[in-house]
Amino acid sequence: MEYTSTRDNSRRVTAAEAIVEGISREGGLFVPAEMPALTGEDLLALSKLDYTRRAVRVLSRFLTDWTEAELAAAVEAAYGGDRFEEGDPAPLSRIGEGEYLLELWHGPTCAFKDMALQLLPKLLPAAAQKSGCREEIAILVATSGDTGKAALEGFRDVPGTRIMVFYPEDGVSRMQKRQMTTQQGGNVAVMGIRGNFDDAQSGVKAIFGDPGMAETLRKRGFVLSSANSINWGRLVPQIVYYISAYCQLLADGELQPGEEVNFCVPTGNFGNILAGYYAKQMGLPVKMLLCASNRNNVLTDFIATGVYDRNRSFYTTTSPSMDILISSNLERLVYLLAGKSDTATRQRMDSLRETGVYRLEEPELAALRREFYGGCCDDEAAAETIRATFERCSYLCDPHTAVAVNVWEEYRRATGDRTKTVILSTASPCKFADTVLAALGRPVPEDDFRRLAALEEAAGLTAPASLAALQNAPCRFPEVCAPGEMGERVLAFLQVAE
Ligand SMILES: *Cc1c(COP(=O)(O)O)cnc(C)c1O
Repeated sequence: MEYTSTRDNSRRVTAAEAIVEGISREGGLFVPAEMPALTGEDLLALSKLDYTRRAVRVLSRFLTDWTEAELAAAVEAAYGGDRFEEGDPAPLSRIGEGEYLLELWHGPTCAFKDMALQLLPKLLPAAAQKSGCREEIAILVATSGDTGKAALEGFRDVPGTRIMVFYPEDGVSRMQKRQMTTQQGGNVAVMGIRGNFDDAQSGVKAIFGDPGMAETLRKRGFVLSSANSINWGRLVPQIVYYISAYCQLLADGELQPGEEVNFCVPTGNFGNILAGYYAKQMGLPVKMLLCASNRNNVLTDFIATGVYDRNRSFYTTTSPSMDILISSNLERLVYLLAGKSDTATRQRMDSLRETGVYRLEEPELAALRREFYGGCCDDEAAAETIRATFERCSYLCDPHTAVAVNVWEEYRRATGDRTKTVILSTASPCKFADTVLAALGRPVPEDDFRRLAALEEAAGLTAPASLAALQNAPCRFPEVCAPGEMGERVLAFLQVAE
């Protein structure tokens, strides 16, 4: 199967090339030239398999330059053994009539990013080999909290790779910061920046777009790649869990063949929900995709009006992984809405860069609103949802998941839609113990690990071992830099002189 670019339809690359390059050279994102189709029979067949075998089947439709045996080995290495706590990497939990939570945080870093970032490091070295790339791969990541840790954990000591992560100094939770700055591994670096996530993301994009930098690195035997959610290798593992969740509900008799479901997704960079849209494009019976935002509600406005306008205040919220004003993956949706027009997509992205705004045409907006609903809630409402959901069904949500639960409840009240709905639960509540304790009306101890203990006690749960183990981990990466210094820091990490 071939991939093309959202900004240049004449580009044709293999899956391996798309994964190695990360972003197309003219700045566009790689997308499948054609969407593989999934029939009702396929879904029934998949419903009889376990998660890893479903993953191999779905991935093999997109990663056609891998053999089935190679994919099976990669999937087993990513999700097998004890990498994921529960045996099932993505367990479903029923919290009400036709209401389910899909837990995507049982991996090593306790957020849904592990679903993709455990697999990507198994795909990327193979992709480099398949596309004839001989250089060492230098991965740069901008993170709003969870991606950074998941990427570090996925790529640590993977031969032929180095990884450097930039995070907003004051834009991540204390536990997230601790997870990253204590990272083990001989090929890793972590750096705070004085700015917000968009500054970090723009900085990384600027490095990728700098031909001088690429040339300097290539001479020294490095090629840059991205583990951000714009990389096709990040998106494709996410398509799997939408399909798998549906198949699981079929297998459990919760859904009839062909019955439609909604998915409600706490959204930041639009990577997670976009994977759901791709699953729908393949033929998964999905009615609505509910896009849930926090107070940074640029996407809610976009879905309501067709105008994407990033010229607004940026808020730091209790759901930091959704504190984003430029949702990079939206470009892939805009491309599809524009009937795969690279020209229209390029113009809009130029307009976004130059003015911070772009708008959809009327028919595109109508098409968007047929399939997406946008909703948002602030920190106070999210906290109230954490409390109420715990009381109602003894389910403890993290603050990101709470935003989705809130938006789903609001949607159901507003529309009366009784379609069964899967809400994506994207992080362990233990990653955000302060917010969750406060929401439950409990005192919040000063020390991070006292907080964990207090949460365990308040909610009757056991914190993931990987978080508890951080207590005695020394800080390896205390450094902070200005956004303008990111390029130099990358060169210093790779020990390349300008
Ligand atoms: C990254 C993240 C999100 C947002 O996902 P996107 O793919 O960026 O839209 C939501 N919740 C949590 C916990 C996350 O880590």
